[in-house]
Order: sequence, then structure tokens, then C-alpha cells
Amino acid sequence: MINLEQYEIWFVTGSQHLYGPDTLKLVAENSQIIAGFLNSNRLPVRVVFKPVVTTSEEILNVCMAANNTPNCIGLVCWMHTFSPAKMWIAGLNALNKPFIHLHTQFSREIPWSEIDMNFMNLNQSAHGDREFGFIGSRMRLNRKVIVGYWQDADVLAKLNIWTRAAAAWADLQGAKVARFGDNMRDVAVTEGDKVAGQIQFGYAVHGFGVGDLVKVVNEVTDNSIDQLVTEYMDTYAITADIRQTKSFSTLREAARIEIGLRWFLDAGGFKAFTTTFEDLHGLSQLPGLACQRLMNDGLGFGAEGDWKTAALVRSMKVMSEGLSGGTSFMEDYTYHMPANGMAKVLGAHMLEVCPSIAAGKPSLQIHPLSIGGKADPARLVFTTQTGPALNATVIDMGNRFRMIVNTVEVVDTDAKLPKLPVAQAFWVPQPNLQVSAEAWILAGGAHHTGFSQALTVEHLQDFADIASIEMMVIDQHTIISEFKKELRLNHLYYSLAKGF
Ligand code: MN
Repeated sequence: MINLEQYEIWFVTGSQHLYGPDTLKLVAENSQIIAGFLNSNRLPVRVVFKPVVTTSEEILNVCMAANNTPNCIGLVCWMHTFSPAKMWIAGLNALNKPFIHLHTQFSREIPWSEIDMNFMNLNQSAHGDREFGFIGSRMRLNRKVIVGYWQDADVLAKLNIWTRAAAAWADLQGAKVARFGDNMRDVAVTEGDKVAGQIQFGYAVHGFGVGDLVKVVNEVTDNSIDQLVTEYMDTYAITADIRQTKSFSTLREAARIEIGLRWFLDAGGFKAFTTTFEDLHGLSQLPGLACQRLMNDGLGFGAEGDWKTAALVRSMKVMSEGLSGGTSFMEDYTYHMPANGMAKVLGAHMLEVCPSIAAGKPSLQIHPLSIGGKADPARLVFTTQTGPALNATVIDMGNRFRMIVNTVEVVDTDAKLPKLPVAQAFWVPQPNLQVSAEAWILAGGAHHTGFSQALTVEHLQDFADIASIEMMVIDQHTIISEFKKELRLNHLYYSLAKGF
């Protein structure tokens, strides 16, 4: 259900008329070569060449056209020659799509024996791009700057990452999050200002009484339940006797809930949703398996009414589309703090962890839930693929949204967990639990996160920059004293930034 191929980025080259038509013709030819190269180099979206812009009117026109082209998710701007930047002001003021500044040069090397003023007049990005950079900074515009030769792997990798962040941003604009019930109990971090969220991120949270969902769930036919249960049997590891046990009827109920929930979200065009186990009136069990499978299909999810995490998980799903490694809703659940050895985190949730992060085939099981007072819910149980991953959270600080990202290393558990009836991931946070958790707590990071094995800090950083939100990174370089300084400076900056 996530399709990045629908999107495109526009390659826009700036120049001016000073150099005459022959130079401008070369500028256009070279730009087309670069745009064509980028387009054929495994970017997740198309790169569309746009005619070279040389006047304020042309720049405004291309920016307005980008605004009005739904599948255009951003611009790549490059100044092959000098392009006096006053002519960019009107266009950049109007542009409401993200852009990157590609600081590159058409010719890789200086042709020592050949170089003359014609070459110098054509290959001016070393100073032309600085003029463009000035106006971006002067206008306080968030943008990514990528420096390097346009064929180099590191340049392409950075562009690929930004493209994914821009796609996630495009996906979020006008997106709808369905919220069944309200916030769970008196939890603080899952609350927040939904109006501020809509202004900042572009998505809307739609609240529903759980009865709206129950009505649909109750209309599900036995025939469609039969089909889905067969799919479960074919897809997951299941004990052979499950059809004979009394649990089988609860598995059918889980299928009924999944079909109803899927229909509800499809019909309403929702990209993310939340549930709360406190408000399940009319549902026989907490949706567990359904949430897991819907996440696996690309929907964002947040438990306990956590709309911010639901939207974040959706954006992380979009950014990671087609990459290896899964992305899931997650919670820091329990610690392992041995006297001799590294402290680690057991991540899990009551039920709702996405099987995209599973190592091997998930096992479909039915167990009692010790809270909530409902029937035993079905769930997928699995361990998580080992290797690098990250946790990300978005919190509402009252006057702004803050993203916090912590890199982690998923490792094998020290021993099997035969009695743990939920999916889990076991990790060492970077630089270690002591510094990671201290920094996370000082920053106010939630217990809920978006967990991803496919994304890097740079994906989230690019996304936060496009969204114009605060970003705090906790990784192998984190030093608490510096982190606290950054938090204090950010308080100051974000209190004043709107007036800067
Ligand atoms: Mn939770």
C-alpha cells in the first residue's frame, strides 16, 4: 500500500543570461546529463529534468508548478553557473515543497592543459552555489546541502535518504489518523495538541467511538473469516491442534476484528490508527494480531491512543519502503542489568509489534492478557533480527514538537524466553544504557517509539528538518554534559525562532 514510484523530484538548474546562448545551451545539456544519471541510479522516485531557470519569473513559475503538482515531492537545486540569488527570493518564498541544494560540479577534474575562460565560465558552481546558499540562509530556509561529485556513491546515498524523507513528508500531507477511543487513562506523553500537530505535520487525527468500529466488525461474514483464518494457517507457525482447542473461536474473533478494522481504515482512507485497551466496549478482545498485520502492510500504529507515534511509524514505514529490515511500533519494556556485563533493553508491547522485524516465521499464539478483562487475544510471537536499528519518538513540548532518536544494536537474548507470550526485540542502546536512558529521559522521550532496522539517523534528521521540528540524537558520540547544553540552547532557540 506504500508506493514510492508515484513520486518525482524536479532537477532545477539556475543560471543567468550574462554568458550568452552558447553557454546556456551547454548548461542545459550538462544538467540533463546529471538529471538523467540521477534518475537511473536506484533512487526510489523519478528525477525529472526542468528547463534551466535564468530569471525571477522562471524561478517563481517552476516553484509554483512544483507546489501544484501533487506527485512532485521536492526540488534538487544546482547552480551550474552563477545565478544572482535575488532572483530566487520570490520562488523560494512561494515554494511549499522541500528542496535540497546539490553542490556539485559538472566536470570532475580541472583539465590542466586545456582550461581557459570558457571552461571557467561554465563550471562556476564553486561560487555560484555559495550565492544560492546565502539566500537560503538569509531566508532561514531548512534545506539539505549535499556536497560532492554527482556520480559519487556518497552523494547518491545522501540524495536517496533525503528522497525518502521527502516522500514521507508528501505522504503525511493531508493524511488521516484514525483514533478509536481517547487517550489511555492519565498518560501524559501520549497526549498533545492535535491542532498544533496538524499545523506542523500536515496530518489530521480523527476520533471515533469504538462502537463505530464494532458495528463494522459485527457485519463481517463467516465466509470471509474462514478465508482469513486459512491465510493465518498458511502464513504463520501454528500448533497442529489449534483447530481442536477452545482457542480456535477466539482466533476466529481475531480474524473478524482484523477484517472489520481493515475495512474501516480502507474505506476512510486512513494511513495510521490508534487503539486503547481501556476502551474496547463491544469488541471481544484487544486487537493484537490485526494491529500487527496492518502495520506489516504499511499502516502506522500507536497503542493507547498514541497518535503521534502512529503517524511517526507511518512516516518511518514510507521512508523504509523497499529497504531491507523492518519497522515497528515499539516500547522500552524491561531492562537486563547484570552485575558484570552490559545493560540491555527488552523491547516489546502487550501485543502490537510488527512482524516485519521478525527473525524467521512468526508463531501465531493465543494467551490471556493480564489486564483489560477481555477474551484471550491472538498475537504473533517472534524474536527480532539482530543488527543495527534505531528508536525514534516525537513528543509535544507545548511550544514545539521534539524528535529524539537513539541508535541501538539488536542482539540475541542470553537465553530463550519460553514463557514470554509476545514478540520482542533485545538491544544495547548506544553509547550504553546509562548514557542513552539518561539523555532520553532528560529530553522527555516517550516510552513508545518507532523502531526501525532499515533507517539511519540521517533519514530521521532529514525528515525532522523538512518538518521544521527539533531533533535530538543519542548515539555513540553522546556526552551528557553536551546533550544538556543542547537541550538548554534548543529551549532558547525554539522559544525565539519564530521571531528570528
Ligand atoms: Mn504502551
